[in-house]
Amino acid sequence: MPNYLPSVGMEVHAELATQSKMFCRCPVAFGGEPNTRVCPVCLGLPGTLPVPNRSAVEMVLKTALALNCKIAMTSVFHRKNYFYPDLPKGYQVSQYGETNPLGYDGYLEIPNGDGGTKRVRIRRVHLEEDTGKLMHLPNGGSGVDYNRAGTPLMEIVTEFPPDITNPHESREYLQQLRQILIYLGVCDGKMEEGSLRCEPNISIRPEGTPKYGTKTELKNLNSFRSVQLGVAYEVRRQIAVLETGGVVHQETRGWNEQKEASYLMRLKEEENDYRYFPDPDLAPMVFEEAYIEGLRNSLPELPLAKSLRYQNELGLSEYDAGVLIADREWSKFFEEAVALGGDPKTSCNWMTGDFAKMLNEQGIEPSQSKVTPKHIVDLVKLVEDGTINGKMAKQLFAESYQDGRLPSEIAKSKGASQITDVGQILDVVKKVLAENPDVVAKYKSGNLGVKGFLVGQIMKLSGGRANPGLVQKVLSNELENY
Ligand SMILES: [Zn+2]
Repeated sequence: MPNYLPSVGMEVHAELATQSKMFCRCPVAFGGEPNTRVCPVCLGLPGTLPVPNRSAVEMVLKTALALNCKIAMTSVFHRKNYFYPDLPKGYQVSQYGETNPLGYDGYLEIPNGDGGTKRVRIRRVHLEEDTGKLMHLPNGGSGVDYNRAGTPLMEIVTEFPPDITNPHESREYLQQLRQILIYLGVCDGKMEEGSLRCEPNISIRPEGTPKYGTKTELKNLNSFRSVQLGVAYEVRRQIAVLETGGVVHQETRGWNEQKEASYLMRLKEEENDYRYFPDPDLAPMVFEEAYIEGLRNSLPELPLAKSLRYQNELGLSEYDAGVLIADREWSKFFEEAVALGGDPKTSCNWMTGDFAKMLNEQGIEPSQSKVTPKHIVDLVKLVEDGTINGKMAKQLFAESYQDGRLPSEIAKSKGASQITDVGQILDVVKKVLAENPDVVAKYKSGNLGVKGFLVGQIMKLSGGRANPGLVQKVLSNELENY
């Protein structure tokens, strides 16, 4: 059997996080009663005129810049003509051509698993409008809900021949892309609600063959996991077809989440002729250089760059960096803590440990809690300078989380600071040894394991306040001379 090389092209649709639709003022939202967010424009009634949504155009431009694309300084909308009930106008407003889409000829970097990055070339980033949704009615028959019709939709397509060569990279690409869209604030990234949709096309070819194989397109993938599983499944399926003397057909296949298998939806006999032409109702978009440069300069630090900076400059592990950048608010919180002088690793540990747990229990965001970066830094410093030990720190943090006071204030009011006075510790050690002569005897006869019990008793008697390092030292010394 020859070695087969997979190639994966990615087509991603992202619903833009605008307030209103692409060409009318109907609000954009998820769910709700069918056909309650519609008007004559998005229903395509005769005599209406579309007005483009400026903020949607800006969101696509920002995305194109973040994806290192060239920008079409003059860009037009086309009509893509086809008939389907979810398309009230009989055409979809989209953007056709190689250099007409708002962004083209760019790339996205994905981690290569080796501390470096791999470049996935982007062919185009364009703006179009979403369709309505067909739905089955409870009493039988079908209906159509136009609430989604006319929602601004961005399409991002990778270059051919594809740079993605395995299922893992497909998932990685989508994860990086989703994070960028969320950082830019242009899409909420909710795959389960369909605001981010991914349709990979997959082909295989025997190693050494220059010609790419026939590709199949996969739909209904609504999680990162299903993208990876789906691509892996298609690669295996196509290999099996070729190895049994069959032919891979160009077809659209659906993904069955329960069976973890793809199924045939429709064969693509030939390319549809959509009779694209420039929409006569919409003027060409023309951009000034200064406007584009302004947008370029307004881009935030992107997730992958941030992750690498956390690892290389702040000494975090790849895992920790990943947890912090997964949420923009979370990484902002962390950066503020570091700016206030908090040790990066320790601050990160408190955030991803106790703090994250408490937030999760309440189901709230960091900004909704009483804990600020200042609280984390305050706590980290109390532990660093030996004022309190780890166990006390946990207690103080829990109280801080409840009432919003700084850990150092709580410590002061309680006199909860750590005992570092050797004389004071010695008193406690002596008392515990006197109370446990049998344990001391065991230790003296060679059972060194019982020392842990004695440490426990000492800590307990000191109310958890004794400095653990000093306790070890004083206890060892006392046991020697007992
Ligand atoms: Zn409308």
